[in-house]
Amino acid sequence: MKMIIRNAHIGEDKELKDIFIENGKIIKIGKIEEKAEIEIDADGKLVSPPFVDPHVHLDAVLTVGDPQYNISGTLWEGIEIWSKRKLKLTHEDVKKRAKEALKWAVAQGILKVRTHVDVCDPELTALKAMVEVKQEMRELVDVQIVSFPQEGIVSFPDGENLMRKSLEIGADIVGGIPHYEFSRDDGIKSIDIIMDLAKSFDKDIDVHIDETDDDQSRFVEYLAAKTIKENYFGRVTASHITAMHSYNNAYAYKLMSVFKKAQLNVIANPLDNIALQGRFDNYPIRRGMTRIKELLKSGINVGLGHDSVMDPWYPLGRYNMLQVAFMALNVGHMTGYNEINEIFDAITYNSAKLMNLSDYGIKEGNKADLIILNAPSKIEAIRLRSEVLYVIKNGNIIAKTTPAKSYVNDEEISFRVIGIYE
Ligand SMILES: [Zn+2]
Repeated sequence: MKMIIRNAHIGEDKELKDIFIENGKIIKIGKIEEKAEIEIDADGKLVSPPFVDPHVHLDAVLTVGDPQYNISGTLWEGIEIWSKRKLKLTHEDVKKRAKEALKWAVAQGILKVRTHVDVCDPELTALKAMVEVKQEMRELVDVQIVSFPQEGIVSFPDGENLMRKSLEIGADIVGGIPHYEFSRDDGIKSIDIIMDLAKSFDKDIDVHIDETDDDQSRFVEYLAAKTIKENYFGRVTASHITAMHSYNNAYAYKLMSVFKKAQLNVIANPLDNIALQGRFDNYPIRRGMTRIKELLKSGINVGLGHDSVMDPWYPLGRYNMLQVAFMALNVGHMTGYNEINEIFDAITYNSAKLMNLSDYGIKEGNKADLIILNAPSKIEAIRLRSEVLYVIKNGNIIAKTTPAKSYVNDEEISFRVIGIYE
């Protein structure tokens, strides 16, 4: 089947182009004279590679309020509520919620997802369910599964063995949570286990690490050094590192040079972390986010994750990456003109890179996975948190959105100023 998208705004290119798609691939970008069965007029709107969410917990999504709402809004009450909810997890319950959330994601242009799945469960209920979800949803969205030991590898009974089993059953990535292990020594030991497992299964690593306000939590340093020693360059991602917000500058800058050598990827999760961190502070209250701006400036690859969608830790969210970008740039003081564009790249290209996705981007010869936004540019897409008009995967339209219209005294209002941010 042939498809042509006409008058597309691609990236920062000012000139509008046509995109010719056939057999699921982008064949040509430029002026297309030919006609096709399916023609879409993008009318100068932004055509982007799909949004990527490299960090979410699909086993916990859409559980908010069950068995109770988080009244204090804190991480600890969230953990307490989750431990009760976890007892009720069934195969069907996990599948139903994960699939529902993934449909929300797809409708809003997310076609690549990396989900952490809690494997601190002798039955591996959530993991087994997620392996099926991944398979059953593959026409709509590509999912990577992280074997995630929510309660620790060393500190949880049989933790290492459960990690190993989950990798045999179908987990794609090795996770971890060293700062949550009982002691510093256990945290270090857990990183050694993570690296051993990754090497023996030939898997990438993505670890929840230093997700605390404790400036003495410094596991990421060991992870980066280990990455260099084991030649695991580019295959390791450090998620959260909120402690980096509180490190002294001399240490933070030294750390960034080690990250660079290790080609370590970083994921910040601004929605959850701005809500959950800083809860022990009196005013001034610290921001719960790692140093996105400085990391990017040092040439380190930074992606952004949604992390939660209506769960005990973050009660809001509608699985929209533009909301994540919006939070990130406000919290991270990244409202400079170029910085806003950089944040758009953090929810697309940067995350695709850390997920080691090939064939990603609007380029001739690549797979035809793309979205058409209801905005002419990256900045406008973020400012308006615009709708995604069309979601195209493998050359097929899999989702569409009709934007709402607003009128004042019967005059239609556009929320745009012609000529600005085009
Ligand atoms: Zn997480």
